[in-house]
Amino acid sequence: MQFGLTDEHQMIADTVRRFVETEIYPHETLVERTGNVPAEIAAEIRRKTQDLGFYACNFPASVGGAGLDHLSFALVERELGRGSMALTHFFGRPQNILMACTGEQIDRYLRPAVRGDRMDALAMTEPGAGSDIRGMTCTARRDGGDWVANGTKHFISGAEHADFVIVFMATGEDATDKGPKKRISAFLVDRDTPGFTIRDGYRSVSHRGYHNMILEFDDCRLPDAQVLGEVDGGFAVMNTWLYATRITVATMCVGRARRVFDLALDYAASREQFGQKIGKFQGVSFQLADMVTEIDAADYLTLASADRLDRGLNANREIASAKLYASEMLARVTDRAIQIHGGMGLMDDLPLERFWRDARVERIWDGTSEIQRHIISRELLRALGA
Ligand SMILES: Cc1cc2nc3c(=O)[nH]c(=O)nc-3n(C[C@H](O)[C@H](O)[C@H](O)COP(=O)(O)OP(=O)(O)OC[C@H]3O[C@@H](n4cnc5c(N)ncnc54)[C@H](O)[C@@H]3O)c2cc1C
Repeated sequence: MQFGLTDEHQMIADTVRRFVETEIYPHETLVERTGNVPAEIAAEIRRKTQDLGFYACNFPASVGGAGLDHLSFALVERELGRGSMALTHFFGRPQNILMACTGEQIDRYLRPAVRGDRMDALAMTEPGAGSDIRGMTCTARRDGGDWVANGTKHFISGAEHADFVIVFMATGEDATDKGPKKRISAFLVDRDTPGFTIRDGYRSVSHRGYHNMILEFDDCRLPDAQVLGEVDGGFAVMNTWLYATRITVATMCVGRARRVFDLALDYAASREQFGQKIGKFQGVSFQLADMVTEIDAADYLTLASADRLDRGLNANREIASAKLYASEMLARVTDRAIQIHGGMGLMDDLPLERFWRDARVERIWDGTSEIQRHIISRELLRALGA
């Protein structure tokens, strides 16, 4: 899709696609079969990403990143979406929220993360607080000049490899007309902090090798210097820096859907039944037509929302629409691709059953489809004062 993209945009997309095809695809079967990424492969992907100049490409050049705009970064994520998430994790894109680092935090967290010397993870979700983040019970309370943290986070991606985690915790409560409302703060927590444990999480059907972990805080003492942003300003820091990163899921779904579509198209053009290519049967060819139309629609929606951010426009609704549509589109595309492959589509000789499993989580993480619909409809109704 060329519409609206400059030669430079196209070059970025082509470079990352080539990288994924040559450096990620060859290791995918191993990761699928073993459920792990060998340390030497992880290190090699990180080094080659650095050599390419793409490590932390989502960060401004002023802090050592590649300084890509939102549209260029969406293209990077789109092409990475073709590959295994367990492996592309090492094509490091630290959390943008690290731009909220101040003072000594810049040299302890921000710069090492951008260089690739230290890896981060981000923890909001708890067993009792998923969509309803404000319902969190993981708490940091004042004790002397420090904070003492207690509670549990779960489903935390990348924490296995993280040197530090950005953790959201309740730091107080306000009485409001609608009842008590928690105040939230963000903390930078080093992996080896006493009272902090990272342990194995659950086994997920989606994205084998990209593990989710459980974090436990047991009287974990954190000095004030570990607060990211303002005390009680967790939502402000989240809204400022995590807002744009929600495009990531949408654009990765588009990249993966194109890879799946190409497999379905090739199969329809080569598999013969009843003496002709199955792509000649309208029952198959119309499925292909619907698939590519939906992929293009998701692609435009996603890139358009990134473009709005680059133009300084509000994109809350557009990003939610992109995430909702692209993740649901991927589910339909992977399902149809399996149908076109018949029985072979379900066998793990082909990667289709993997893409089908992987697609399932996209409608859940980073805000479920229902939460995206809530955001979209709220924006529409609010504009009318409802
Ligand atoms: C593999 C994996 C990795 C993850 N990685 C991370 C991570 O790195 N860091 C992190 O912080 N979190 C992470 N998450 C958490 C993820 O963001 C949450 O799973 C997600 O926000 C949904 O929360 P929940 O699973 O608790 O579901 P719940 O919030 O309990 O939702 C259950 C159902 O109720 C629906 N529902 C809830 N509220 C509403 C409403 N208001 N209106 C309509 N329907 C509603 C939901 O849509 C859903 O269908 C990860 C999750 C998974 C599965």
